[in-house]
Amino acid sequence: MKAEFSRVLVANRGEIALRVIRALKTLGVESIAVYSDADVSALHVTEADRAYRLDGVFATDTYLNIDKIMEIARKSDCDAIHPGYGFLSENATLARQCEENSIKFIGPSSKTLEISGDKFACKKLAEKNRVPVVPASKEPIADPEEAAKIAREIGFPILLKTAFGGGGRGIKEAKSKEEVKDAFESAQREAKSAFGRFAAFIEKKLLKPRHIEIQVISSDDSSEFIHLGERECSVQRRYQKLVELSPSPVMDKEARLKVANYAIRVSKAVNYSNAGTIEFLRDSETGNYYFLEVNSRLQVEHPVTELVTGVDIVETQIEVASKKKLPIKQKDVRFRGSAIECRINAEDPISDFAPSSGRIEYLHIPGGPGIRVDTALFEGQEISPYYDSLLAKLIGWGEKFDQARERMIVALDEFKIAGVETTIPFHKQVMQNNSFSSGIMNTSFLEESNVMDELLKEAKSHSEDNYLIGAFLLSKNQFAEIQRIATSYESQRRINPQRSQIAGGRFIDPL
Ligand code: ADP
Ligand code: ADP
Ligand code: MG
Repeated sequence: MKAEFSRVLVANRGEIALRVIRALKTLGVESIAVYSDADVSALHVTEADRAYRLDGVFATDTYLNIDKIMEIARKSDCDAIHPGYGFLSENATLARQCEENSIKFIGPSSKTLEISGDKFACKKLAEKNRVPVVPASKEPIADPEEAAKIAREIGFPILLKTAFGGGGRGIKEAKSKEEVKDAFESAQREAKSAFGRFAAFIEKKLLKPRHIEIQVISSDDSSEFIHLGERECSVQRRYQKLVELSPSPVMDKEARLKVANYAIRVSKAVNYSNAGTIEFLRDSETGNYYFLEVNSRLQVEHPVTELVTGVDIVETQIEVASKKKLPIKQKDVRFRGSAIECRINAEDPISDFAPSSGRIEYLHIPGGPGIRVDTALFEGQEISPYYDSLLAKLIGWGEKFDQARERMIVALDEFKIAGVETTIPFHKQVMQNNSFSSGIMNTSFLEESNVMDELLKEAKSHSEDNYLIGAFLLSKNQFAEIQRIATSYESQRRINPQRSQIAGGRFIDPL
C-alpha cells in the first residue's frame, strides 16, 4: 500500500460522487468513476479522469454490485475505493474484499462495519460504555406475539425497528397493542425489500425529540479521535432528514461537550476509524441525550459542518486513509457562524412528496455570499426513478443563524429547476416559519407547524393567479397553439403552468 494514493475509485453516483472527485482533484489524485446505463452522460462520469461502465440500470446490478466494482478497482489499478454514502458505503463485505486485495477502503475496517451496521449491538456497546440509550428490547424479537409482549413491558408508543436499517426505512410505530402486529409485519416487509434482511427490536418512542448528531473523525489506527461538533436534523419527514443545521439552536458549549464525549466513547467502543457520525435523540422534556445509531460513512449533511469548521471532511477522509494520522487536532477545531442545508429532492411536496421524474428543462443554480450548492444536475438531464431522489443540496452560511436563514430564502427563491417537481417550495416555507426561525423544532415539525398548510395555500393562490393571467392574455388561437405544444411533450404535467410556477420554472409557462 502506497502512503499516498495515486488513483481512487469512486463507487457512487450523483452529487456525492462529484464531491469526492473534486476532493481527489484538489489532492492531485487520479479519479476513477463507475456508471450505470442510466448515468452514461452524468457529470461524475465526465468530471472523473476515467470512467467504467457497470452493465445495467438497477442498483443491485450496478452501484451495489461488489464483484463488478472490485473487478474495476483491480483492473484500473486503484489504491483505494471511496464509497460515498448510501449504496455500499457501510458494506462490510466490500471493506473485507478491499482488505484482502490491498485496496484501501476509505472508511472504517470491515470488523467495525460489522458491528456499527447492527444498531442493536451498538446500543449494547453504548450502554456498556455509560452512554444513555432509549429503553429497548434486550434481545432480537422473533414474531409479532413476542413483539406485543415486549411492547407492553416497555410501554406505548413504541417503534419497531430493524437492526440493519437506514434512511428511515424499516421503522414502524405502534401506539397500542392492537397496532403491534401490523407494525411488525410492515417493518419486516420494508426491511426485507430494502436491506434483504430483518432483525426486529423495539424501542420506546420518545415524544417530539430533537435529532442531534456528532461528526467524529478518527485516525486509521483508531488511536486518535476528534469531533467537529453537532448537526441538528430535526426537520424530517417519515424519519428522513430534510433540513440540517449546525450549530443546533438548543445546544450550549456544555451540552456539546457532553454529547461529543458520548460520541467519542461510542466511536472508541466500535474501534472506529475515518469520518463517521454518531446520532442521538434529545428528549424534549428532560433535555437528556440518548444514543441512537452509528452512521459509518460520510453523511449527506456533512457540508454544514464543513462550513462552520472550515474542515474539508472528504479531503480529511482521504488523508486519514492514506497517511494514517489525523491531519488536525481537537484544539485546532474552531467553530464559526451558522450553516443550514436544504435537501432539494425530486419530489412533489404538495402531492405527499410523491417522487417526480422527467427531463430537466431549465436549471439556474443560485450563488452569492455564503451560498454553496452541491449537485451533479445539468440541463437536459433525465431524472430516472431508479435511484435516490436527491437533486441538490443547498447550503447557506452566515455569522448568525438568521443571516444563514435569510441567505437561504434568497437562494431558494433564485433556484430554478423545471421539468420535475422539487422540494424547493417546501423549504421556502420552512425557512420562513416562525418556530424554525426561533430555533424551535423537533422531529414532529411537519405535523405540528403550519408549513404544509402554508404550502398548499401558496400553491392554490399561484394556480388562481395563473388562471386569471391566462384568461386575460390568451386569445382562443394562442390557447390552441399552447395546447398543441403541451401535448407534444412526453408529459402534459411537466409544462402545466401552475405546477411549473410552483416549481419556480416560470420560463416554461405557456402563459
Ligand atoms: P444521512 O447520511 O444524513 O444519515 P440518510 O439517512 O438519509 O442520510 O441516508 C443517506 C443515503 O443513504 C440515502 O440515500 C439513504 O437512502 C441511503 N441509506 C442509508 N442507510 C442505508 C442502508 N443501510 N442501506 C442502503 N441505503 C442506505
Ligand atoms: P435510520 O437508520 O433509518 O436513520 P434511526 O434509528 O437513525 O434510523 O432513526 C431515524 C429517525 O427516526 C430519527 O431521527 C427520529 O426522528 C426517529 N426515531 C428513531 N428512534 C426513535 C425513538 N426511539 N423515538 C422517537 N423517534 C425516533
Ligand atoms: Mg439514522
